Amino acid sequence: MLAATYTQDEELRLEEVAIPNISDDEMLLRVMSASICGTDLRIIRHGHHKLQHGQKIVLGHEFSGTIETIGSRVQNYHVGQRVAVAPNVGCGLCSQCIEGKANMCPNYEAFGISFDGGHAEFVKIPASVISQGNVMPLPDEVSFEEASLNEPLACVINSTFACRIVLGDTIVIFGAGPMGLLHLMLAKLSGAGVVIVCDIMDEKLQRAQELGADHIINPQRSDPKTAILALTQAQGADVVVTACPVHSVQEQAIEVAAPFGRICFFGGLPHKDPKITINSNLIHYRNLIVTGVTGGSNADYKRGLKLLVGKKINLMAVVSATYRLSQAAEAFETALTGRALRIILKPHG
Ligand SMILES: [Zn+2]
Ligand SMILES: [Zn+2]
Repeated sequence: MLAATYTQDEELRLEEVAIPNISDDEMLLRVMSASICGTDLRIIRHGHHKLQHGQKIVLGHEFSGTIETIGSRVQNYHVGQRVAVAPNVGCGLCSQCIEGKANMCPNYEAFGISFDGGHAEFVKIPASVISQGNVMPLPDEVSFEEASLNEPLACVINSTFACRIVLGDTIVIFGAGPMGLLHLMLAKLSGAGVVIVCDIMDEKLQRAQELGADHIINPQRSDPKTAILALTQAQGADVVVTACPVHSVQEQAIEVAAPFGRICFFGGLPHKDPKITINSNLIHYRNLIVTGVTGGSNADYKRGLKLLVGKKINLMAVVSATYRLSQAAEAFETALTGRALRIILKPHG
């Protein structure tokens, strides 16, 4: 089969590899749609701490497809069934796993990191992934493309809960990439009164406006703090989300929060340089809550599917282009420019 493989400290390569063998407790999925996540791009640029030097892996944790073959001991699924797969699987024993938050398990495993992911014609679904409920039947109303994008949606559902949006809130989102745009759509759905989106790329701001942003700010033309205070009668925003990996944006996020504001650091900073400088008195005197999230749980993933069934969210609005898997080189090149929104790979046309 064709697969896009990444070798740690080397490069991404499109090559023919063997179709994985499955045991009696596993299944093989025919990948119908697999998107390229910022995490995949970060691994290509910087490697991943869970991978050894020279270790080869198929990336891709955002995928969906049909069950191609199924082990004799696997119950409740059938060959040909359309499914979406939540990518994180925990140890099942720690406090976070018992709470259903496998994404917070200290020993979590995931497709495209711990085992081969979806940037291939077929992907093996390990037994632990099946037994923990990560393989979810895909309702007919949801396309394979939407299903692959349900993973980033689940992460933003997790973030939206952490932001504790109240009806009428003013929300500022820094970053209008796919994650920022998903925050925008979920903020609207959660009853936000006003949503303000900041980004340095005008095309992305335009997409934000099309998706319902009330105000857009390009920091290269106007100072976000001044603009946000002007738009909020000097009150600041009830919720501020940083959906970009920028130190100064995290610092600014705290400065533009209203009293009792909630700030969510959704985008992480580089592991080698994660420190910022803030005026902590702003948190003290304004009663702020500063939080952050990483990934999403199976429950978040399931909620995402429900939103898609109800046509409550237009996930295709965060897609820039779709490529066949054979065009993976071009697809990754486009994704690595940083100008594109989500890119989808279609291994079977
Ligand atoms: Zn992702
Ligand atoms: Zn665990």
